[in-house]
Amino acid sequence: MATRLPLIAGNWKMHKTPAETAELLSALVTRLPAALSDREVVVAPPFIALETAARALRGSPIRLSAQNLHAETHGAFTGEVSGPMLKAVGCQYVIIGHSERRQYCGETDEQVAQKVKAAQRDSLTPIVCVGETLAERERGDMLSVISRQIRAGLAGQTAQAIAALVLAYEPIWAIGTGKTASPEQAQEVHAAIRHTLVELAGQSSAAAVRIVYGGSVKPDNVDGLLAQPDIDGALVGGASLQADSFARIVHFE
Ligand code: PEP
Repeated sequence: MATRLPLIAGNWKMHKTPAETAELLSALVTRLPAALSDREVVVAPPFIALETAARALRGSPIRLSAQNLHAETHGAFTGEVSGPMLKAVGCQYVIIGHSERRQYCGETDEQVAQKVKAAQRDSLTPIVCVGETLAERERGDMLSVISRQIRAGLAGQTAQAIAALVLAYEPIWAIGTGKTASPEQAQEVHAAIRHTLVELAGQSSAAAVRIVYGGSVKPDNVDGLLAQPDIDGALVGGASLQADSFARIVHFE
């Protein structure tokens, strides 16, 4: 069986100025060990704070992610940021297809696929988000919606490329609402996602993919979620904005 290094990632969304970023990261660094070998920790501040974050994280095991990227490397795309730019400020990861971008910015599965390819071109590891709305879950369409998002978002990917990326299952009804999927509900979907990945990339590549859960992960529910066999980490929104709560999540048991 593949061993997957658990990944805890904090998505800060539109929070924290550069000064607040420096403050939060210095508090976080003091709460985590100087080296981490059994788990990986990533933070995703807003674009304008990435450089400050890279400086604050120098010498620490915490890695840097962006929250989005543009598929082109450069050009007349006002307000956009490209993969090479993210790489230049020290990012190793990039979140792609977050439900807030799909919902508020009209991001489509096809755009997600282009961004995933761009991230790989630019040597950034994509954290590709998928998840159903409450209405889709109640209609019984949950697994077909997620399968569609994965098949479209990973279209044209080789098995090797799929093995190297991270998928985040984020049920939209659980994001920022305080309603978490139960460990069993999340495991059911993670197992289904892995099954879809087997169809796309084969058994051994699918077994290597880290599938993290996101949706109101907190210090008091992280242990149960991460005890599930197909839950390989967490994408954390609100609880990543305070050093104490994020550090406790990183120290899941
Ligand atoms: C997220 O934004 O990816 C998220 C999971 O947010 P929260 O933890 O606040 O639900």
